[in-house]
Amino acid sequence: MSSTNTILTQLTTTPKEKPTVEQLGFGKHFTDHMFMMDYTIEQGWHNARIIPYQPISLDPSAMIFHYGQSVFEGMKAYKTPAGDVQLFRPERNFKRLNISNDRLCIPAIDEQFALDALKQLLSIDKDWIPSEPGTSLYIRPYTFATEPFLGVAPAKSYHFIIIMSPVGAYYSEGINPVKILVEKQYVRAVVGGTGEAKTGGNYANGLKAQEIASKEGYSQILWLDGKENRYIEEVGSMNIFFKINGKVITPALNGSILAGITRDSMLHLLKSKNIDVEERRITIDEVVQAYEEGILEEAFGTGTAAVISPIGQLKWQDTELTVNDGQIGEVTQMLYDTLTGIQNGTVEDSFGWIVKL
Ligand SMILES: *Cc1c(COP(=O)(O)O)cnc(C)c1O
Repeated sequence: MSSTNTILTQLTTTPKEKPTVEQLGFGKHFTDHMFMMDYTIEQGWHNARIIPYQPISLDPSAMIFHYGQSVFEGMKAYKTPAGDVQLFRPERNFKRLNISNDRLCIPAIDEQFALDALKQLLSIDKDWIPSEPGTSLYIRPYTFATEPFLGVAPAKSYHFIIIMSPVGAYYSEGINPVKILVEKQYVRAVVGGTGEAKTGGNYANGLKAQEIASKEGYSQILWLDGKENRYIEEVGSMNIFFKINGKVITPALNGSILAGITRDSMLHLLKSKNIDVEERRITIDEVVQAYEEGILEEAFGTGTAAVISPIGQLKWQDTELTVNDGQIGEVTQMLYDTLTGIQNGTVEDSFGWIVKL
């Protein structure tokens, strides 16, 4: 990789007005600056720069528009009550970016350099990090093919960009468990496909089922495996956990499930609290049976955006399963409080997960 060690910086001369806490929402506002870098076969990743947030120009034949060669990440920066800026396991996100890059034939980025670039971008835009409880700065690194060419092959040129968006408290009115539809027609991913990569096509592929479910009053889809339509994989774009008869179970990573960093953190937290936890295959029939036996105690999704989303109700064919009377469960609440506490600096991090700016 050539000339990756200097980052040219051009500051904006027209800073934007920052949104108020009430205006925040999710992914609607963007900070004053962005990080950008280019790839060519001859130069590798080069021309690292921090520039004012702005539109980018691409040739209409740029391969991203035609064959979807793109990858993204999602992570957050938090401002602690003491005013420090911190990241949560950021090296994991850049590592996963490269795992996804590899699956999509996009050249690897230098993970340490990307983290250093993010830290520089954060220090320039640190006033954009909201400090009210539950708020954070969402960070979106992404790579995509830019070569102007209509041929199906890995592109010869790419961009790597990082943009940042101040986001509000995900649960402004307390955590409300959601209604989930177990999908029986559409599938999200299959083993051997791209389910393990954070690539745009997976999400475009899920929109149809999501739209149908929304119309029927469900907030998310529970995805079953793409082959036998029995094994539970994910919920929406989150990993999923069940508590059955005192034991916490999450589907084992099988090649079609995205390896969530929140999922991994939950597994560590559960073990540290001496709660029994299993990573294994679990069928929808097993969950229905647990419900009928009265031992389906809790269910929740995990991901960076919401951290935890409790499941209040599951619909599978003609059966409606209500979990914990539609209330958030004890373990779900404990995990939420502990993880968000570590992330925002109010609970001590005994795992070494926090990276200070
Ligand atoms: C991003 C994502 C997750 C959650 O990953 P985190 O690292 O916890 O944010 C889970 N499933 C899918 C499909 C995802 O895209």
